[in-house]
Parts: sequence; C-alpha cells; structure tokens
Amino acid sequence: MSGTMSAAKPELSIVIPVYNEEAGLANLFARLYPAMDRLGLAYEVIFVNDGSRDNSVAILAEQYRKRPDVTRVVLFNGNYGQHMAILAGFEQTRGDIVITLDADLQNPPEEIHKLVAKMREGYDYVGSIRRKRQDSAWRTYASKAMNRLREKITNIHITDQGNMLRAYGRNVIDLVNQCGEVNTFVPALAYKFSRKPTEIVVEHEERAAGESKYSLYSLIRLNFDLMTGFSLVPLQFFSLMGMVLSLLSALLVVVLLLRRFMLGAEAEGVFTLFAIAFFFMGVILFGIGLVGEYVGRIYQQVRARPRYVVQTILQGVPHAVPTPEQAEKRGIAR
Ligand code: UDP
Ligand code: MG
Repeated sequence: MSGTMSAAKPELSIVIPVYNEEAGLANLFARLYPAMDRLGLAYEVIFVNDGSRDNSVAILAEQYRKRPDVTRVVLFNGNYGQHMAILAGFEQTRGDIVITLDADLQNPPEEIHKLVAKMREGYDYVGSIRRKRQDSAWRTYASKAMNRLREKITNIHITDQGNMLRAYGRNVIDLVNQCGEVNTFVPALAYKFSRKPTEIVVEHEERAAGESKYSLYSLIRLNFDLMTGFSLVPLQFFSLMGMVLSLLSALLVVVLLLRRFMLGAEAEGVFTLFAIAFFFMGVILFGIGLVGEYVGRIYQQVRARPRYVVQTILQGVPHAVPTPEQAEKRGIAR
C-alpha cells in the first residue's frame, strides 16, 4: 500500500530545522520517509533551512523535487537559531499533530510512531526522555544541572529539556503561533499552553554526521532564553539577596562601631574586608548583567522587528497521488 497521501490536510506535520547539515541529510531522508510512509497516515515534512552556508539548500530542494507531495521547505535568508526555525515551521504546519525532530538523526525517525500513539491517547503534548543520551560527558552533565535549575525556578515540568523529539497538538501549536516571542525555548513555550502533557522514553543516537551546531556560548545564550523567558525568579533572587545583604551589613556596621568604642581604632583584617568586598562586587556585577539579560530581551521585543525572514517556501506542487509510473519516474523509493 502506498504511503504517499494526497489529502489536502495532512494529519501529521514533521518540523525539522536544518543548519549546515549537508553531511547527514541523505541519511535522514533515507530513514525518515520510509518510517513516515509506514505509519500509513497523511503527513507532511517541513524542513526549515536556518541560513545554512553549505550545500543543505540544494539537497533539500532536491528532496522536495522527489517528494513534493509530502515535503515543504522553508528557506530563511539568514541564521536565526534552531528555535526560530521551528517556530517558522510551526506557522506552516497543517496537521493535527506536529512533531519536531533534529536533522542530525540524534532523534531516530523510527520513534515517531510512539509519539503519535501517545497523542492518540488524548494528550496534547508528548515530551520525550532520552533513554541513553549519546552526547559528550560534559554536555550531559551541564544539561542535567540546567534541567534541575529550570525545574526549580519555572513551573515547567520537563524531564529532559534538551531533547527536541516532541509532539504537540493543534491547540498548542495555534497558541504558540500567536506568540511573537523573539527569544524563546519552544518545548517550554508549548508546555505552557498544553492542557494534558505527558512524556515517554525514546532512543537517542550519536550525531550521524557533521558536528554540533551549538558552541558553549550559544548553549549559554539558549539557557538564558529559557530561564529569563519563563521565570522572574533570577531577578527576585537578587532583590532578596539585596535585602539579606543590607541587613547583614547593617549588623556589621553596628558591630564595628561597638568595637571602635570598646577597643579603639583597629586596622587588621583589611584583606578579609577586601575579599568580602570583591566577592560582593562580583555578585553585584552578575546581578547587573542579569538585569541586562532581561532588559536586552525587552528591548528586542519592543523593537518588534520581524523575528525571521522567510526568503522562499518550496511547496504547493500538485497534491495528487502519483501514479505508479509517476512514482517510478520521480524515483520514489518504496
Ligand atoms: N540548528 C539550527 N540552527 C542553529 C543551530 C542548530 O537550525 O543555529 C539545527 C540543527 O541543524 C539540528 C538541530 O538544530 O537539526 C539541533 O542542532 P545540533 O544537533 O547541532 O544540537 P545538539 O544536538 O548538539 O544540541
Ligand atoms: Mg544534535
């Protein structure tokens, strides 16, 4: 039975951000399309090219020519980041279920059916937990620490935040599409809008080709987006600390005054004082920086520039089921 569906409205939309993935795309297609065809439901795959500078665009366009019935390609004019790419993909989706996936095959396409099955049980958000994470030790460790921190300061309950293999219901996607957030973290935003979220365990593989597109710096930026975008606790923490420190220094002044009158002038312990002063200067600088993180985001938001620029969308070529001969001609593997 042909898995190629031609329904005007697909049931399932897959969104995949692509940034310099030329080395792995062929592999991705070779596993993704058969896995999708096997599901036996009407689907569409939406690739969003996030300003790749390698040959990814040509490879995506070629795949679009091979499977125009189920493939759409959104092309950005520059690099806006994975989460903006996913949001642009969301705007194009038509399915009742939307699934996001990384292009590097770390999320095996063969796991998609598990998410679909779970969604059909009536959930509108299915997160996933990597059974055995295949990333470097430091990444895994740092990510666990950030997970714990986020769990404490936001009321978002996601076990494995770094994992993108997730399914969202149409209701959630429609709400996400209404947000004009410039700096955001898609799984957290979607979680906020879900009525009935759940999680399942999925496999995770090593990156099939190429290397991670996240530098340490961009990982730090991403985590600031997550923390500042979904919580005011970091700011409140500084006001609380300010209060505690003011109280403590008031006490210190009293103690020093008493000593001045009881013991006379003393100058020892100057270095200890310096040490304490430097420590708090560090804390203050961090606090100012943190306020800056929020202010910067407010600034970007109020400027209200377009969040991303879509250059072209490859889509809309005949939605008719190809005859076996046409399929043969188009080289559709079955
Ligand atoms: N990605 C993107 N824009 C970026 C960085 C990454 O669209 O600026 C895509 C990338 O092509 C991949 C996904 O986001 O499909 C996850 O990236 P990567 O695998 O490099 O991240 P990691 O697995 O190391 O967290
Ligand atoms: Mg990856």
